[in-house]
Amino acid sequence: MEAVPPPQPLIDIDSHGFWNALADGRFAMQRCSTCRLFQHPPAERCNACGSTVAYEELSGGGEIFSFIVVRHPTVPGYLDDLPYVVALVELDDQPGLRIPTRLAGAEPTDVSIGQRVQIALVDLAGGNHTVAVFELAE
Ligand SMILES: [Zn+2]
Repeated sequence: MEAVPPPQPLIDIDSHGFWNALADGRFAMQRCSTCRLFQHPPAERCNACGSTVAYEELSGGGEIFSFIVVRHPTVPGYLDDLPYVVALVELDDQPGLRIPTRLAGAEPTDVSIGQRVQIALVDLAGGNHTVAVFELAE
């Protein structure tokens, strides 16, 4: 039986810059032209002050703010990887700037809150997209 691919991103007018950057090998988020805050998920305007936003590259470093261990087969495309960790990573670039992500290559028993992580860009099976995952830092 052929494996079912994982869900694919639904790219819209606000998020296309995020996905285009990943396709070019860069990790970028929207940053306000006025108050200079990064924001994620993407939106039409700055969530803090309503000004215009543009995509800027991030450092790719952060730490685990929170995480769960997925043990049940709920998401197609990842059934052979159980159990795996889904983490909420707080990025180094701005306090409170967080992204939900898959923590790749880590045993759930080796993961704890506050651990350093580093971004990794991987091709998503079943389509033509690059996605950002994180790995435990060395
Ligand atoms: Zn702003």
